[in-house]
Amino acid sequence: MLIPSVDAARWPTVRSIAKDFGCRFALGTHPYALAAHSPEDPFLPDDLTGAVAIGECGLDGAVGVPWELQERVLRLHLERSKDTDLPLILHAYGCHNRLLPLLRPYAPLRGVMHAYSGGPELVSAYVKMGLHLSFGGAITWEGARKPLESLRRVPRHRLLLESDGPDQCPRPWKGRSEPAYLPEILRVAEQVRGEPLAEALWENAHGLGWIS
Ligand SMILES: [Zn+2]
Repeated sequence: MLIPSVDAARWPTVRSIAKDFGCRFALGTHPYALAAHSPEDPFLPDDLTGAVAIGECGLDGAVGVPWELQERVLRLHLERSKDTDLPLILHAYGCHNRLLPLLRPYAPLRGVMHAYSGGPELVSAYVKMGLHLSFGGAITWEGARKPLESLRRVPRHRLLLESDGPDQCPRPWKGRSEPAYLPEILRVAEQVRGEPLAEALWENAHGLGWIS
């Protein structure tokens, strides 16, 4: 399991849960957290010891935080990923037209566009920048079309699946998404793509340093 962070206040908790339960963790500041961010709090810790990724970080069109602040904070994460070679866990919702030009100068990038919700037509742009694309329970929802088309277009060597817990609960369950539901997400992904995926997914996560 890989536990991402949302804000500085939770970094110590994320570290200690990861330690107690043998999980991986990521450190960073999520765009959701920027609305309540206090000026004394850093956006990234000086010490990234033990972290296997930087994030979540990214842009969110529904969060009501000025783009200027969101973009500035995201750039800090991108620069830190370059400096440390730690992969990014990128969050993007309703802002891909802003995100793509912001990311391009930093390419090639290492990391994942998590719970991908952009259009299928943008998949190749993210792949060209070096990123993996990851899908959660939304691919199991009745009537899902766009995510399935995106899922089909991701090259095997750049694909990941995730619980996105507590969000994106896969069917037939309702409520909080759990890592225990991942086999069902895998089953649907294999059905949609018409190929076995477990081995490729393992190799992809291994390549990012998230499975040893
Ligand atoms: Zn997210």
